[in-house]
Order: sequence, then structure tokens, then C-alpha cells
Amino acid sequence: MRGGHNQTHNTVERRRHLDSFYVGKIRRAIKANGMDCDTYEDKGNGVSIVLSLDSMTYDGIKVEFSFQHVGYGTHDRCFFLCPACGERFRYIYIIKHKGRRVSLSRNCAKLNYRSQQITHGTEECAYRMKRLLRDKFHVTEDLAPIDAQCYIPNRPRGMRKKTYIRLMEELERVQQEYYEAFIQGAARIIGLL
Ligand SMILES: [Zn+2]
Repeated sequence: MRGGHNQTHNTVERRRHLDSFYVGKIRRAIKANGMDCDTYEDKGNGVSIVLSLDSMTYDGIKVEFSFQHVGYGTHDRCFFLCPACGERFRYIYIIKHKGRRVSLSRNCAKLNYRSQQITHGTEECAYRMKRLLRDKFHVTEDLAPIDAQCYIPNRPRGMRKKTYIRLMEELERVQQEYYEAFIQGAARIIGLL
């Protein structure tokens, strides 16, 4: 297995995941006692869990349940519903997304992690492109990175032609770097690298 893939795999594995079969057992005990919900503590990290009959709230993150009828069993099997793809999963991952924690299926957690890798690789180039456009070419528009990547600024009034050409070469280099970082990240996502 290639290093890159392995790395992604491990990173997802190391994230906190919860087992709906285990949670389902506790839920049944709550139901058997004639209760609607109960509060627990996830030992080891001091996170509080509120279990109700149709959902679980893990440290403030709500996860809905979905039940599957098992023909031979005496009870329905409990699954988590991934809020991103709406599919049923036994395991749900608690991960950080844009600074806040969310619950996601393994597939969605992986995609999320990979898209963060793209952002990470291109972030620095995007910053340099924007800074150059703003400080040297006086572009006041707030450009999205993808637009900054192909932006051709006019020569600002008072700037010498020679300076303009030099700065344009510098800008083109950064734009090319951004493009390459973006393609690399995208290729990683679709499994070409
Ligand atoms: Zn999902």
C-alpha cells in the first residue's frame, strides 16, 4: 500500500468513532426501563452523552438513529444516520470540520479529510496570489482563489512597464504553483496518486 493512502487510512482510524450496536444495547435498556432518555459519560475523555430513543447527543453533537428490522431477532438493529450523505452506518466518526466538531460516516470523514489536504496545499499559494494582487497591482476585488489563479491585472497607473513585467512574471509563477497544488490534491482525491 502506498504511503499516502496509508496515511489517510490511519488518520481516519485514529479519530473517535462510536459503535451504534453498542449504543443500541444501552438504548434498549433505557426503553426496557420505561424511560425516554438517559445521560452517560464517555470515560477517558469526560465527554457527556445523552441517549434518547431516536437520537444520541455526543458532547453537543446530535446524531440520529435509523433502525433496521431483523427478521429473526426480537428487536430492530440500531444504526447511525450520517448527516452528510444520509446513509445508515454502524460507526460514526466525530471529527473537526472548519473549526467545529461534526459526526460523519467513515466515507464522508475520509472525503472531508482529503479535501482539507487540498485546502492545506493550496492555502499558502492562494495567500501569496492575493497579497501580490492587492499590494502590487492594487486589486481591491475579493477574488476567490480559483479566480485569482487566472486573473490578469492591468498595469497600475504610475507603474513602470519594466516593473509591471517583472511583477507579472512573479504572479504567473505563484498562479502556476497554485494550479499544481490544486491538481495534486484533486488527483489524490480521485485516486490517481
Ligand atoms: Zn456520510
